[in-house]
Amino acid sequence: MAIYDPKSLKAEEFINDEEIRETLAYAEAHKNDLPLIRQILDKARPKKTQTGHTCSGLTHREASVLLACDIPEVIQEIYQIAEEIKLTFYGNRIVIFAPLYLSNYCINGCVYCPYHRVNKHITRKKLTQEEVKAEVIALQDLGHKRLAIEAGEDPINNPIEYILDCIKTIYSVKHKNGAIRRVNVNIAATTVENYHKLKDAGIGTYILFQETYHKESYLQLHPSGPKHDYDYHTEAMDRAMEAGIDDVGLGVLFGLELYKYEFAGLIMHAEHLEAVHGVGPHTISVPRLKRADDIDPTQFDNGIDDETFAKITACIRLAVPYTGMIISTRETEAVRSKLLRLGISQVSGGSRTSVGGYAGYSPEERPHDTEQFDVSDQRSLDEVVRWLMENGHIPSFCTACYREGRTGDRFMSLCKSGQILNCCHPNALMTLSEYLEDYASPETKAIGYQTVEKELKRIPKDKVREIAAKHIEDIRNSNRRDFRF
Ligand code: SAM
Repeated sequence: MAIYDPKSLKAEEFINDEEIRETLAYAEAHKNDLPLIRQILDKARPKKTQTGHTCSGLTHREASVLLACDIPEVIQEIYQIAEEIKLTFYGNRIVIFAPLYLSNYCINGCVYCPYHRVNKHITRKKLTQEEVKAEVIALQDLGHKRLAIEAGEDPINNPIEYILDCIKTIYSVKHKNGAIRRVNVNIAATTVENYHKLKDAGIGTYILFQETYHKESYLQLHPSGPKHDYDYHTEAMDRAMEAGIDDVGLGVLFGLELYKYEFAGLIMHAEHLEAVHGVGPHTISVPRLKRADDIDPTQFDNGIDDETFAKITACIRLAVPYTGMIISTRETEAVRSKLLRLGISQVSGGSRTSVGGYAGYSPEERPHDTEQFDVSDQRSLDEVVRWLMENGHIPSFCTACYREGRTGDRFMSLCKSGQILNCCHPNALMTLSEYLEDYASPETKAIGYQTVEKELKRIPKDKVREIAAKHIEDIRNSNRRDFRF
């Protein structure tokens, strides 16, 4: 039997089934143990240091106890600490991105995804480089600067060379004042050699959802194709990091397996990356299973309600305080509003989950024939930007860290240093100003500049505040763009 070892490079040792089962039993036994719970909550709270703040995070066992606890006052306290952590380390900025679907050709058999191989009636489509260009122009015209590219797994139709060509095309399109400045990549697990190629192509984060950490279920949910190999999939982030990609994004598809099991597995995966590579995941996504072409989510037994979903999100925030957290348009405006208070730091906006879903369509039109799943939040990017500001957040189109080489542990140290207000905050305001000037509706622009003015005052260092204000003036009065700290 495999022995639990977070430093091991073997999937069954760092995501160890026995350790997860023991963790769940421990959490169940202690879910009403108030002295222990109080100790865990105290540990999770951010602490002031001479140079900034620190937060120790929680082990998978500690975090699992909180997740198991049903005491309403404790849950409220978890929520309050989650918000405190988010505001301490990320401020009130919310980074915005959009998915770009390149191809829905796929040879896998994932039973929850409409792109699975045996779906014979879904339209299969792969963008040509001309079409990629058109999509990027449409995305730039909306105001996007950061994309997550998505593709099915198909070595004939979507080989790594195709993905690399697409990345090159995306970065090359300079349309009006627009540019895509960061391309994150969500493609199937691959080899160290291919991860090297992605690194050399200048990708931001490599994102790969585990879907489920439960091996037996994983094998049933992925009955055929290369993705059937649980170990290869689970060990993918180690290969990506070995190839020098130090920003990786984890995620579980909630609804496939029991959430407490998934939660423990996810935190163990984060602990493993930290133990082996000295840096945890850059982001964690929390997707939930959605209705899609031939997929009915009610056919899966492990769906979770909104309250449980909120609790999971908050507990992740407490366990891994320096990791960005992403919520997509799979969720409704109401759910997203709630989760934004519990630790989320990135959202997608104005998203299309079909191949070629942006170019040639008005904001009201959405093609469904190649779509991966139903989008619940169907608002335009402009509406999302305005909504964020109305709720006290700063929508940020910033990509500075990655372009200044602040990735991996360098980003984490910035996060811990307390310099967020002197660095990320002005960057957010400058990129928001670009959006307001180039793409916003008059209503959003009006609220936007009130936000910018108010938030500029919160920059502590006089010099930084003056420079940021000067750059914002330049953005408003000229075509000068892309200022950053
Ligand atoms: N093909 C790549 C892979 O296998 O990892 C990644 C791209 S896939 C387009 C992105 C993610 O969409 C998957 O990892 C899965 O978690 C999610 N997904 C698939 N079907 C879904 C559904 N019905 N509802 C919500 N999310 C879904």
